[in-house]
Amino acid sequence: MKILDGKALSNKIKEEVKKEVQELQNEKNIRPGLAVVLVGDDPASATYVASKGRACENAGIYSIEHKMPESTSQEELLELIDKMNKDPKLDGILVQLPLPEHIDTRTVLESIDPLKDVDGFHPYNVGRMVSNLDTFLPATPFGVMRMFEENNIDLIGKDAVVIGRSDIVGKPMASLLTNAGATVTVCHSKTKDLNFYTQKADIIVIAVGIPHLLKANMIKEGAVVIDVGINRLDTGKLTGDADFEDCKDKCSLITPVPGGVGPMTIGMLLKNTLKAAKLREKREKK
Ligand code: NAP
Repeated sequence: MKILDGKALSNKIKEEVKKEVQELQNEKNIRPGLAVVLVGDDPASATYVASKGRACENAGIYSIEHKMPESTSQEELLELIDKMNKDPKLDGILVQLPLPEHIDTRTVLESIDPLKDVDGFHPYNVGRMVSNLDTFLPATPFGVMRMFEENNIDLIGKDAVVIGRSDIVGKPMASLLTNAGATVTVCHSKTKDLNFYTQKADIIVIAVGIPHLLKANMIKEGAVVIDVGINRLDTGKLTGDADFEDCKDKCSLITPVPGGVGPMTIGMLLKNTLKAAKLREKREKK
């Protein structure tokens, strides 16, 4: 059994990005830039936004943070996005989710220039991802794919089960695994018999938001378990969607929570911002 250290891998990715950012600046005089928009005062979102800013700074990426009050109207937010779409210093625009209820998330995400959509949530980029074309991949599933690669996990012909079908994790994860040659089953809250699928799976990616939903008796010997869930218990402790202590001895590889998939997400966001800056450089050269 191997426990995958997402923190160490994330640090490696951040170092890769930092080096490439320096090269881009030295050779092409281009500094990647990322804008993060936070509407409202959800404390978890504020923490994520702050850590994204810090990670940019450490990697040499220019970053700005727009904090807008909860009462911000959709029009005001769309106006800001329009300005940022036109701002040549910004390669990436990220709107922290969830947005307040009076704002339509789809409309906002679709207003971001697809070439600056470093979250990969714009339908244009989602379509490209599904078609296996080069694009910005959503950071969390992108990070999971990098974990498979780093651990030489061959996905071709493997039975993979993705638990959860959200637009930000489950669905893109299933697309990426399909494109990589796995046979993919997507399970969700309406799945009749979850165990039927998980017990046969070589690879399980769980992104549900229910602490310890996945138990050892639901997985087969030697399975790879990737736990995307981040749940805060009443004790204040963070835990995953898989019961780590119960499952770990049965798995060939498992990601812990915290310290597994979580730290990968910011690393992949930096990678997407760097990619956007490189694409800008190519467009400017034409
Ligand atoms: P979400 O939008 O709430 O989606 C949860 C999914 O789980 C839904 O598809 C739901 O099914 C399914 N589900 C709920 N109960 C289930 C059950 N009993 N059995 C099987 N499936 C069930 O959540 P999300 O945004 O994908 O996030 C999932 C978890 O990942 C959360 O803990 C979140 O904090 C974490 N997360 C971590 C990262 C990161 O590591 N960086 C990033 C994003 C999310 P229905 O569609 O039928 O409702």
